[in-house]
Amino acid sequence: MNTSTKLQCEVCNNVVLLKVYGGYVHENRFAFNCPECNITISGYWIWNEDVSQGFVKEFKCNNANRADETSEPSHILQLATEFFTFKIKPYSLSDPTIFLSPYILEQMSSRRSQEKSSLVRMIAEGFDEEYKVAMRIWELFQNKNFKYLDRQLISNHFVEKPRLAVETLNIDYPKVIQLVIINLFSFIFNKQIYLDKLQELRKMLQTLFKKNPQEMIALRNDLSELVTYADRSVVQLLKNFAQYFRLLWPIILSDLFGPDDIQKIKEKQGILTTNFDMLKNYYVEAYEALGSVLPLLLGIQNIKIRADRNKFEPSILHEFNKLQTIKDFEKQIQNKGNRIKFFVKENIFSPLLEPTILDNIIRNSIGHHSYDYKADQQLIRFKDKNRNHDLFLIEFGNLLYKSVFATLAAFEISMFLKYEVPEDNS
Ligand SMILES: [Zn+2]
Repeated sequence: MNTSTKLQCEVCNNVVLLKVYGGYVHENRFAFNCPECNITISGYWIWNEDVSQGFVKEFKCNNANRADETSEPSHILQLATEFFTFKIKPYSLSDPTIFLSPYILEQMSSRRSQEKSSLVRMIAEGFDEEYKVAMRIWELFQNKNFKYLDRQLISNHFVEKPRLAVETLNIDYPKVIQLVIINLFSFIFNKQIYLDKLQELRKMLQTLFKKNPQEMIALRNDLSELVTYADRSVVQLLKNFAQYFRLLWPIILSDLFGPDDIQKIKEKQGILTTNFDMLKNYYVEAYEALGSVLPLLLGIQNIKIRADRNKFEPSILHEFNKLQTIKDFEKQIQNKGNRIKFFVKENIFSPLLEPTILDNIIRNSIGHHSYDYKADQQLIRFKDKNRNHDLFLIEFGNLLYKSVFATLAAFEISMFLKYEVPEDNS
């Protein structure tokens, strides 16, 4: 299902040729900035499932209209769901790549296209239903509505139905709920290294609790308010990811199947499935939520390395001389960029938690709207006070994608502290 259309900007009348390569999803979103006047042009195509009724079922576009077929385009853009595409470039008949689809270009270099497409198709077909069920189960669990929670868990095959009427269900709810949530995002664990690390983290928490029960109970106690709400705030980030991951398909797929190295391709290639405007607020929310649960992670790290929740790595402690306890860390160090510094020198959560995902300059620059976006290059310049930080859109998208692994680690830890470490009532 390939098609092309000419879009005329409603602001400046400039015409861009949009070539669309329909993959296995029925809806293709796009967003770009007009190369002439820079206004954001965004819209979507919905393909007909029954092609006898024509390829396109619905097409909507903001700030541009379909242009007359005879009009001359200034630029060309390729839109594909699963692949990186060339950034907007001047329309020139002497450029051979304007006639080749991203799929063909990729096939010429590798055989990964088939694998990518089948994953996208699988997720496109099943994810929404699984998401609905998982979030319904999460809500029933939050509301402690065990009667209906049990029914949902059974009817969705997360637990087995008792064979005898007299048998009672013996469900370890937090464990099952964790499984339901993690399972929903299992597709990003195609890359074994993350899955291994998450399972290792689970075992590590159990071992740590056996070895240092008093420290773990004290940590839960010191951070009790945070423990109460942390699981909810990280699940909110996972809900966000469920909304935006489709915008990041090329990034996710290249990470899962390699070997597109973002650093090597970022100058020439990008993504057209989204733009900076659509993603920036997700970053701010991830920054705030992950930043606020960091005390839990740091307490665990201190116990793991020094068997004491209040003993920090000495060289970093040097920078924060008033800091004495993990409670101080939560109360005194409000700047999330400072919080993440404690994971730069030592980091027992790597590669789930990459310190680079929490960037103070990016956060402040989005918050204060002090950034520039060069649409044609897909280059963002973040500005905070006198500091600049340049990122291509695919690098920024990659930060968002990487933040999900940290979110899953935080989910694991917050569930463990809340449900498996007892409260200290003494
Ligand atoms: Zn324009």
